[in-house]
Amino acid sequence: MLSKVLPALVFVSLAAAQPQGVGEVLPPWSPGMLDIHRISTGKGDAVLYVFPDGTSMLVDPGATGRQGPRVTAQRPDSSRTPGEWVVRYVKRMLPGQSLDYAFVTHFHGDHMGDYFPKSGMSASGKYRLTGITEVGEHIPIRKLLDRDSPDYNYPEPLKGQMMENYRAFLAWQSTQRGMKVERFQPGRNDQIVLVKEPRKYADFEVRNVAANGEIWTGVGTVTRRHFPPLADVPPQDRPSENMCSAAFRLSYGKFDYFSGGDITGLPDEGAPLWHDVETPVAKAVGPVDVAVLNHHGYIDTENAFFVSTLRPRVHVFSVWSPGQPCPRVLGRLLSTRLYPGPRDIFATNMTEANKIVVANLSRLKSEHGHILIRVEPGGARYKVIILDDAAETYKVTAVHGPYESM
Ligand SMILES: [Zn+2]
Repeated sequence: MLSKVLPALVFVSLAAAQPQGVGEVLPPWSPGMLDIHRISTGKGDAVLYVFPDGTSMLVDPGATGRQGPRVTAQRPDSSRTPGEWVVRYVKRMLPGQSLDYAFVTHFHGDHMGDYFPKSGMSASGKYRLTGITEVGEHIPIRKLLDRDSPDYNYPEPLKGQMMENYRAFLAWQSTQRGMKVERFQPGRNDQIVLVKEPRKYADFEVRNVAANGEIWTGVGTVTRRHFPPLADVPPQDRPSENMCSAAFRLSYGKFDYFSGGDITGLPDEGAPLWHDVETPVAKAVGPVDVAVLNHHGYIDTENAFFVSTLRPRVHVFSVWSPGQPCPRVLGRLLSTRLYPGPRDIFATNMTEANKIVVANLSRLKSEHGHILIRVEPGGARYKVIILDDAAETYKVTAVHGPYESM
């Protein structure tokens, strides 16, 4: 009996002392793997997906223009713009040198790039470089999806320099570079697909779940209008930009993943109950292995029904402000009343202020660095790999898992 137990113990203790790959440069993606890179810039989201056949997608390359003590410092540093750092990361990690998809979940600077009057001009002279426009300037994009193409008038005409600059980028890229621009349509599972070897990975799917208050029901491609007609809504109750975020579920074999942009789940006091977008979304999505915190774990998110329905083993999110995550949100994520079993939480950029406020709750598994979810071929298991974000070393600083997909 002892002889059976001992080798196992020795193996476990060695593995604990030196997790495989720590201190080394990240091994490259190879066919069959699903890689989801949450790139740490300190200035918003930026998530690179490499699907099992090498199809690529970049979601929400943000660059918030907010400054001061309430926002995180830029990573690796401020010698380049967030867009430039993302371009360099993507070029390093991509098997090809173009993006099959880019996707803007909603029109906020931390997801698409704020407009900076002094930022660089594109070679075309037609738009300034920030966030998504800076990425598209340097990396060809085949298809770009957003929540309101081509009209940009829901819930009201979308104006301002950021949107004008974005639309100038779309116009030039679509007429001069052949970039397709499409409106993200909830319910569909054929808008983001494998473009290289779809038959080889038939159990891979990206399901569009929600945008603009239109939410998938979980049945076929059927959706339901969750927001009332705008004519019936007083101006102060109009849906916010965050509520309109595009949300999707990605599945690969047994592995399921949810990303909901900045949708909200806890209406402000006195606000209509339909401001809760998370509840109908959760009913359609069901349990997942990995979920991105909605709205960076801010105070108005991760309601009890949503958390207990998705019940993720792993939560991930990008931090750029001390309100992310809200202590009450973290309390719900950790609550075994809401769902049983262990769960691990990973953040890109916790500030000292964040850590002080959430100190009485259990520590996050990781508080700094790029977060890579690397799913094994077939989807049965995955690891969470943390990469150094202090410089472009692409070195592994921690490995968590493997986790079994449920
Ligand atoms: Zn955001």
